[in-house]
Amino acid sequence: MNFSPIPAILKDFSKPFKSNGFELYAVGGAVRDFCLGKKNSDFDFATDAAPNDVKRLFPKVIPTGIKHGTVTVLFKGEMFEVTTFRTENGYVDCRHPDSVEFVSSLEEDLKRRDFTINALAVKIPDPKIIDLHGGLPDLKNHLIRCIGVPHDRFMEDALRMMRACRFSSQLGFEIESATFDAICELKDNIKFVSLERIQEELSRIIMSSNPRKGIEALSRSGLLDLILPELAACRLVQQLGYHHEDVYYHSLSALDAAASRDWSLEVRLAALLHDIGKPPCQEKAENRYTFYNHEIAGAKMTKELLRRLKYPNSVIDKVSTLVRNHMFNYTPDWTDGAVRRFILRCGKDNVDDILRLRLADQLAMSGNCINPNVDQLESRIKAIESPSLTVNDLALTGDDLKAMGLKPGPVFSEIKEFLLQQVLDRPELNTKEQLSQIAQKYISNRH
Ligand code: ATP
Ligand code: MG
Repeated sequence: MNFSPIPAILKDFSKPFKSNGFELYAVGGAVRDFCLGKKNSDFDFATDAAPNDVKRLFPKVIPTGIKHGTVTVLFKGEMFEVTTFRTENGYVDCRHPDSVEFVSSLEEDLKRRDFTINALAVKIPDPKIIDLHGGLPDLKNHLIRCIGVPHDRFMEDALRMMRACRFSSQLGFEIESATFDAICELKDNIKFVSLERIQEELSRIIMSSNPRKGIEALSRSGLLDLILPELAACRLVQQLGYHHEDVYYHSLSALDAAASRDWSLEVRLAALLHDIGKPPCQEKAENRYTFYNHEIAGAKMTKELLRRLKYPNSVIDKVSTLVRNHMFNYTPDWTDGAVRRFILRCGKDNVDDILRLRLADQLAMSGNCINPNVDQLESRIKAIESPSLTVNDLALTGDDLKAMGLKPGPVFSEIKEFLLQQVLDRPELNTKEQLSQIAQKYISNRH
């Protein structure tokens, strides 16, 4: 297989390497994604040039990770990460190599990489894809497989277990069985990975187009119990009644629904977590279970869980508010006052996302996303929130008030303000006839 056509900018970038006797390879995600026909212009490069050599080759070089052999070259408006071929030694903390050693061959460098599909390389400008670890057949068979002995590779760096689940989710691939068995065996080592990195991988799973696959990989391997025990506790929690799935699978279906509509990280997190309050609130009723106040328990648990995973406060606040308010029960007989109170309770900036969460929840429950009630609530919220009417939009004018025998003055604004309040509550009152009647009544009550 060939990586072609090679973009002109990559050919230009390789020239200074070549003319100084060095090799330049594109490696990692961009080559993998090219083979899958996916766009990825985030190139990682490997070279036999030492970081100081690279510094000499280009005028603008940032020493981003120079200790590990990585520099960033600013080239024709792009930022290219270039890493000197290296091996890694000793990983006493199950996460970072104790030392790295620069080596002269690509072969050595590719061995330290995590998965076969991430160890494809292209020697720029030759488009031939170099595959020393069977990455191309694994790509074809949709498999995530460790390079070398999986147990050893996960012992070196426990983050790779999360990465395996993440790539499985992003690419829709299976984790090859020996690789998967090693994750099951070594899952407890996830404690050596920083919560920030766990959060990052989890978010990438959630933001992928097939998040169920990644969460299921976490669940089946036992990692879910360690990083999201609140969600793991939803497995096998039966609901009956309207629900055909247990709480865990319902949550995955809601997340899938949010992903299929390309909704934000916050809505997807809320879809995944909206029912985590159910297990502690479950009670048996005749032929079903009840979960009273699970949204209150769930919002509290969501806050703690997202805090633990070091999500930013803006995400924590938004997601817990969504979870807290997901149980509203709109019916068309809600007055405008009730709609306003709903907006107030949720917060103006959250209502759209709360309606999305409701649709995701419903889609998960019934496979049906048509909900005239939610549509109606949405348009009523829009009408209420739209830059609403002002006194100038009233069907009754100052001239009309004069014609009713009133003298212009502060009382005019008082009446108009009162009329406006009536019209905001009931727009159909905005006719000359009805407003003049209301104005008459207002004046006589005022005296
Ligand atoms: P993407 O950028 O789409 O997330 P990627 O495969 O490019 O995917 P990066 O994190 O950018 O992933 O890493 C670039 C390459 O470096 C990987 O393809 C892999 O070869 C190697 N790599 C990254 N992290 C690790 C790790 N923890 N252990 C071993 N190799 C790794
Ligand atoms: Mg990359």
